[in-house]
Amino acid sequence: MPLYRTDAIVIRSMDFSESDKIVTFFTRDFGKLRGIAKGAKKSKKRFSNTLELFSYISLLFFQKENLELARINNCSIIKAHMEIYKDIEKMAYGSYFIELINELVGEREKNNEVFNLLVDSLSLVNGHKPGEEIARIFEIRLLSLVGYQPQLQGCLTCGHRLSNGEMFWFSSVKGGIVCNRCSHGQGNLSPISPGTLKILLLARDMDFRKIHRLIFSKQALMESKEAIANFIQYQMGKEPNSMKFLKKIHGLG
Ligand SMILES: [Zn+2]
Repeated sequence: MPLYRTDAIVIRSMDFSESDKIVTFFTRDFGKLRGIAKGAKKSKKRFSNTLELFSYISLLFFQKENLELARINNCSIIKAHMEIYKDIEKMAYGSYFIELINELVGEREKNNEVFNLLVDSLSLVNGHKPGEEIARIFEIRLLSLVGYQPQLQGCLTCGHRLSNGEMFWFSSVKGGIVCNRCSHGQGNLSPISPGTLKILLLARDMDFRKIHRLIFSKQALMESKEAIANFIQYQMGKEPNSMKFLKKIHGLG
């Protein structure tokens, strides 16, 4: 059986039988991968808490051809993200990232940039008190990396570009903005101002190391949530569970 090593984030961990665990990882080199950790419940030493949700680890596994489940041989921790466990809001944001990846990235679909986005976003939430910005930043970057990038720079119908002060409309059905003139007769639209569009473009393109400095205005938070979070729901065909949980925490659900 060939042996592989890759960096991985634990995105699901559940008990299986008396002594084993079944763990789902998002890995740098193999995308989403499910494996069994034999004896993980009994031998704490062998896996020493590396199989906890959100853990960033170096993973060693065997993979038999034609077998869906990998066999986890050994793991060592790169970063545990312990702060996330201590704060329910941090947990909720971390869970939201993972749920979106689960929904929008296919099985065994390698995507190095999505992997880096998840690592960076978890690290940010671990180290800072998260604001609602982080959800929008993650959404807009993930959408771009998995091929659902919304069009934010000009009207999808007539090509009219952004100009001073003019309001646009975001269409979840079309996946981008339409100008006022082209909006007539269309459903599922939410208003979006030039300031919000600009900050969303920054959130998408800015160097991630500086992203914690990006502050959304109240209006931008409201409009971008209405547009982008709803666009994701439209793509998924349902409201993400972790989004419902976030709303509850924020007293909105
Ligand atoms: Zn137009």
